[in-house]
Amino acid sequence: MANVVWHKKLQILLDLIRDDLDHPELPDLWDTIYRTDRFYGRLGVPVTERDLQCGGVCRDMGVEAPMHLRMRGGRREAVHERREDEERHTAPMSDEHKAYQERILRAAEEGGFSGGSEVRTRVGRSWIQTDTLVEGADGRRIGWEVQLSTIDQSGLRGVRARAAKAAKNGITPAWHTDRAAYAQRNDTHWTRSDHLPAYVIARTGDLRIVSGFRALEFWHCDTRSLYPCPHGVRRCGKAHATPKPRDVLFDDMVRQTAAGTIVPIQFRAGTTVHRYWVTSADHDRLENLHSNDTGLLHEREATPASGASRNRPTCQPAAAPSTVDAPPPQPDLPALPVQPPAPAIETAPAAAEQHAGRSRQPAHSTTGLPSELITLQQAADDAQLQLQHLHDHHERDLQRQVWRDAAAAVQDAVTHYARTKRLNRYEVEVRLRRLVRHTAR
Ligand SMILES: [Zn+2]
Ligand SMILES: [Zn+2]
Repeated sequence: MANVVWHKKLQILLDLIRDDLDHPELPDLWDTIYRTDRFYGRLGVPVTERDLQCGGVCRDMGVEAPMHLRMRGGRREAVHERREDEERHTAPMSDEHKAYQERILRAAEEGGFSGGSEVRTRVGRSWIQTDTLVEGADGRRIGWEVQLSTIDQSGLRGVRARAAKAAKNGITPAWHTDRAAYAQRNDTHWTRSDHLPAYVIARTGDLRIVSGFRALEFWHCDTRSLYPCPHGVRRCGKAHATPKPRDVLFDDMVRQTAAGTIVPIQFRAGTTVHRYWVTSADHDRLENLHSNDTGLLHEREATPASGASRNRPTCQPAAAPSTVDAPPPQPDLPALPVQPPAPAIETAPAAAEQHAGRSRQPAHSTTGLPSELITLQQAADDAQLQLQHLHDHHERDLQRQVWRDAAAAVQDAVTHYARTKRLNRYEVEVRLRRLVRHTAR
């Protein structure tokens, strides 16, 4: 039995626990569906050819499990047609799984975030069920799904589709496992801890994520660099990023994903799309690097992801800017100061938004970003561009300082703006850069 039924023809989920099946907009829904199902039964239409399927774990795993309806002692019930589908429901949640759910909620709470287990999120006439949902800063929602080695491989069916559906509906999927084979899958951003008993997971001590998080190492492609150029045998003179596996504490992961200081990233190397987590600072710096690149990073895509390229893949976020200026080769790494994230709760009094300076961006009114920010970002970008045109050592030192000061000014302004407007600082920054760099000047 299951409480949730998927109606194939109506394309809706039905919650049998609720009187109205959780569809107040469709009166007498149960009567209609129940009568129809019994009518089919009398006609001898096989259950597999009717409209009802399991909308619970079977559907979550991508299995079409036919069901029929019945009344038992005044209770509405949906029954699996096949025994193997029913068995999918009886596997109890392991103690380890429960311990993880509790740990996620505790860690989130300690970081000032709320959450819940088995949370249902409405999506049109259907919904998404999340193992443990953390409500992060600025409306960010992290959907934790824990898949431990206690489940069999069939539990992993439909991971990509489920993760994509969650992401499409504003829930950042965060899948966690203790089995290496799962963590190596590239269908979502897996994190992995070692296989541990429930009492260890439940404790407050260190619980480490041993794979799924990377630190990006930024390096300059010249004769002194440790790595070969991802584009070929010669030194291209550009900046590249190499992801390095790093451990991170599980509790920190929970809190920082909620705060937005750890974010998911994906890039293609050969035929494989790699997915893992990085700090928002690294993500930002990578985006900065790409927006200053001439697009040469795409070249290696045709080569298969084997040998060295698997260990040293070329970073290429899926959200790579679609239009970039083509500056001359950039001899300096972006070195913008990293700012702390905006607090979840803003206590400073709101200051009046400043509209100083004349904007060169007619589009700013539609983006809602103050012209002051746009002007500062343009100044920083201009300073960086000038640096690229200089060759004299002393002049470059001076200009580098100009650039750094300009970059620091825009960072401060973004922080101030995000705080007073109670916005996500990181998102403001990304929006600002996109606006300034992808608008013809
Ligand atoms: Zn089922
Ligand atoms: Zn290179």
